[in-house]
Amino acid sequence: MKSWVVGNWKLNPASASAVQALVDDLVDGVDAQSNALQSCHIMVAPSLLHLSQVENTLRTKSAAIDLACQDVSALSAQSGAYTGDVSAEQLQDLGVQWAIIGHSERRQYYNEDNDTLLKKMSHSAAQGLGVILCIGESEADFEAGNTTQVLADQLTVIADFLKQSEAADADYIANKLIIAYEPVWAIGTGKVPSVEEVTEVHKFIRERLQSFDATLAKTPVLYGGSVKPENAQDFAASEQINGVLVGGAALKADSFLDIAKAFS
Ligand code: PGA
Repeated sequence: MKSWVVGNWKLNPASASAVQALVDDLVDGVDAQSNALQSCHIMVAPSLLHLSQVENTLRTKSAAIDLACQDVSALSAQSGAYTGDVSAEQLQDLGVQWAIIGHSERRQYYNEDNDTLLKKMSHSAAQGLGVILCIGESEADFEAGNTTQVLADQLTVIADFLKQSEAADADYIANKLIIAYEPVWAIGTGKVPSVEEVTEVHKFIRERLQSFDATLAKTPVLYGGSVKPENAQDFAASEQINGVLVGGAALKADSFLDIAKAFS
């Protein structure tokens, strides 16, 4: 199974010219190292504002890089009087293939709960967008030993999606779902759980998914939180870790591609 290395650019870079420099460096780097990277899917998630620019570059240069958005509207409308929203249909039409949903920063700053995430997931799936659902415990929950309880609650979105969404057909659930386990306390902090800890958590996630539907035993489960070129090899060594979601280190093409090489 190919691994997944996904760059979440968050609210970066600050200017269109810096976005262009980053995507150009990435495309050139992927092209130059295509052999070393062939067993790895590479994906980037620019801000909504820069999706069109990045899509244009990836398409023009036929780059082997998938495109994801960092968020999608929770409303069911595909267009209409909804100021500030961007629909799954618009994203799909633009050439976006994946949607990151439920990142801890969205949960924290916009109070996104399971109900909202189920809507976002269903609308994305209805348009054929793959979904990367982010889950993860806070530092307090980690210290209190509540990790699996928190993750089980966050994973109910998947169970509800399977029960309620018409888009949740066999092909979709086999090919378009990814889980990213990101302990909130590891994001942007330089603190990382041990590979053994992540491996145990991923086993738990996989068992849980499998209890919803047998096909989901094969769902890629990625790790995210302070992944760097220096620690990527360690995470890549675990069979339970099918790739990584990278924030800070995705903003330099060299670092990001070094991480991707560790997973190839
Ligand atoms: P980080 O972010 O790599 O900067 O810790 C990861 C993420 O939030 O997806």
